Amino acid sequence: MGLPAHARVVIIGGGAVGVSSLYHLAKAGWTDSILIERNELTSGSTWHAAGNVPTFSTSWSIMNMQRYSAELYRGLADAVDYPMNYHVTGSVRLAHTKERMREFQRAKGMGRYQGMDIEVIGVGEIGKLYPFVETHDLAGALYDPNDGDIDPAQLTQALAKGARDLGARIVRFCAVTGVRREGGEWVVETTLGNIRCEKVVNAAGYRAQEVGRMFGRFVPMMTMSHQYLLTEPIPEIEAWSAASGKKLPLLRDVDSSYYLRQEKTGFNLGPYERNCRGHWMTPFDPMPDDFSFQLFPDDLDRLEWYIEDAMKRVPVLGTVGVQKVINGPIPYTPDGNPLIGPMPGLPNAYEACVFTFGIAQAGGAGKVLAEWVTEGATEWDMWSCDPRRFTGSEDQAYCDVKGLEVYGHEYAIHFPRHAWPAGRDRKLSPIHDMTKALGAVYGAYNGWERALWYARPGDDTSEASTQTFEREGPWHVRIREECLAVRDAAGILDLPGFSRYRVQGAGARAWLEGLITGNVPKPGRIGLAYFSDDKGRIVTEMSVMAIAEDFFFLITAAVAQLHDLEWLLAHRPEGSAIDIKDVTDAFSCQILTGPASRAILASVCDADLALPWLTHQTAQITGRYCQLVRVSFAGELGWEIHTKTDDTAAIIEAVWSAGKAHGLKPFGMFALDSLRIEKGYRAWKGDLSTDYTLLQGGLDRFINWSKPDFPGKAALQAEQQRGVSKRFVALVVEAGECDPPYMSTLWHGGKVVGETTSGAWGHRVDRCIALGMLRSDLAAPGTEVEVEIFGVRHRAIVQDGQAVWDPRNERLRA
Ligand SMILES: Cc1cc2nc3c(=O)[nH]c(=O)nc-3n(C[C@H](O)[C@H](O)[C@H](O)COP(=O)(O)OP(=O)(O)OC[C@H]3O[C@@H](n4cnc5c(N)ncnc54)[C@H](O)[C@@H]3O)c2cc1C
Repeated sequence: MGLPAHARVVIIGGGAVGVSSLYHLAKAGWTDSILIERNELTSGSTWHAAGNVPTFSTSWSIMNMQRYSAELYRGLADAVDYPMNYHVTGSVRLAHTKERMREFQRAKGMGRYQGMDIEVIGVGEIGKLYPFVETHDLAGALYDPNDGDIDPAQLTQALAKGARDLGARIVRFCAVTGVRREGGEWVVETTLGNIRCEKVVNAAGYRAQEVGRMFGRFVPMMTMSHQYLLTEPIPEIEAWSAASGKKLPLLRDVDSSYYLRQEKTGFNLGPYERNCRGHWMTPFDPMPDDFSFQLFPDDLDRLEWYIEDAMKRVPVLGTVGVQKVINGPIPYTPDGNPLIGPMPGLPNAYEACVFTFGIAQAGGAGKVLAEWVTEGATEWDMWSCDPRRFTGSEDQAYCDVKGLEVYGHEYAIHFPRHAWPAGRDRKLSPIHDMTKALGAVYGAYNGWERALWYARPGDDTSEASTQTFEREGPWHVRIREECLAVRDAAGILDLPGFSRYRVQGAGARAWLEGLITGNVPKPGRIGLAYFSDDKGRIVTEMSVMAIAEDFFFLITAAVAQLHDLEWLLAHRPEGSAIDIKDVTDAFSCQILTGPASRAILASVCDADLALPWLTHQTAQITGRYCQLVRVSFAGELGWEIHTKTDDTAAIIEAVWSAGKAHGLKPFGMFALDSLRIEKGYRAWKGDLSTDYTLLQGGLDRFINWSKPDFPGKAALQAEQQRGVSKRFVALVVEAGECDPPYMSTLWHGGKVVGETTSGAWGHRVDRCIALGMLRSDLAAPGTEVEVEIFGVRHRAIVQDGQAVWDPRNERLRA
């Protein structure tokens, strides 16, 4: 087929993901879509993939995507009339440790919430499901009946048939060589000529960076080599399959780091090895111009430990030889999740690329991508895969070290107090040396190193100590000291990289007023602003600091830097005089909070410290200017001290010196998390996400219904009339050793009735607190529910209001 002159959407790349995107666009009625593939469909990573289709994940959004894929694949052959090999064998995931069992319990809880019958089983039951496995040293296993394997090429062809039948087009053996904007459209240049389109999608797999360059965009990624080996037939397996009439479930020994799958009557063994290898990382190893349907040379030495370990685990594996090795490219982003969503900085351009599990995720990814393209928003909050979570400071060296780290720990447990060590120290606070000297243990927030907690000499700050879900560890007593200092004296927290935009120009106030759900503060004041989408869902929250009538600083989470900027820019009227500038790097911020904070500031500046809560003023400390903002995310009397980065060190050193006499202590992000949860203050992309509307989020007081209009107003009004189905609540939980993580299930009367969005130990109230979403009829104060924490249900009581600490804000207003 030749290339038409025009299409509504052009997708670049015909792997499983690109073709699924085309299928989902066509299903949404966007049949004037075309996919362009430089070679044959599947010629990238797709053709040689092992084809495992797990649903397991401890990320809510990734699990959603994989669950959707598995559901789609089950009915796909019939839906598009294209028979294919899809074996739903179930899988057995082995646990060597108690913490691994906790991880399984968590996945089971989330899976059940999503409607999947995942089970956690004891050692004695493993053999019944999988007779060939050694179990004497195990702690248990997870059984997922939905797991299986699919033929990746057949899957892609089936999706292609479905898309074509609906009217979408596919052009093969046509390489995209460039793109340009012309007359409000994209012109996609190819080896078969040019095609104009409204929207364009980069689905080029491990070539996504090459295609990204055509857009002037650096796609944060690198390419790993991944191998699996196929064995000769094994008579015992053949006999078992013949007798039982089925395939063995897929076995994953995640603590040893490999999968083992029955392939015909032998095995497919695929390790994620620690001593892993990237490809195409140096000028001496360039990516060939055409790598289609090619593999890397076998490199079995790297896998030796894993092969031996698997032979001990499943001894029949050791009875036969290796028949074939597949060593192919898998692209990795710095956090291992794919890129699905708007291409940063460019209109009507999208990404659906850099998939490490692109077969398992293709179905869900196609749905998500199609929603972005056709509706500009997705059903599920997909921030974990949003390209804008990388904000542009990632260079190739960073992508390389992070990709190697993620691959080498593909099956690692993600513990709440653990900070991954690769690619660190990239963005340092102006007072980094000071926090370091004070004992800071750091974590990276959008690349910025922030203190998590402050260790004393002799405290265990090793990575090994963080390998636990339990609340208590070397940090616990220090977090407590930090929180109590904030309660009883004062604490200071260094917050570099707080994202900040300067919004200025005639009409800025009126424009903001029309864009947020509530009111824009008057000059001299600061307020929280919520941005809703057309469905009334929470897009983001920013602090609006009004400097003058039409001059504001908008401040938001570090990681929201690109996301929020794009939201503002996308909603600025064309030709508007309003200037919006990202000035994040020019400023820094510290939170000084606690009852002694006023006395500390009074000793270093002559600002009017009687100005009320939610005001701000310019002040001079040690001869340098700063902005004192009377707010505290910790929920005590306090000020944020905003400084120009050149002045930060001098100002904070003066505050620090003055504070010593008042019991000032440094505190870190872990303490801040505990303090803000006690106050019911929400964190972005946990408590605040597009999974919830503003009304569900309990943000009613930030909605000004009397305004003529704002995005989401009609939807929120309709929701209010219908009745709000769930409500944001604070819970006091009778927890055991662990606090409830994100998306822990809430139960009542044996039914699932909600989920947590945050959880922590509140040191000021000496209780475990959870924030979450609960069915509205149960949200009355005093209602007793249960929170499932790592498989165990704990009693919890709904609190009166959203704050457990100082509900009337008396301490804040002191
Ligand atoms: C050994 C191995 C085993 C794996 N096993 C599994 C597994 O069990 N389960 C799982 O989920 N995943 C597995 N994967 C990963 C999986 O293969 C990938 O995640 C998936 O194939 C990615 O699909 P994709 O459509 O994003 O990219 P690709 O399949 O790479 O497709 C991208 C396409 O874009 C085309 N393209 C690139 N540039 C251009 C251009 N300029 N113009 C036109 N077309 C272009 C390419 O030719 C290619 O066909 C495995 C990978 C390897 C290496």
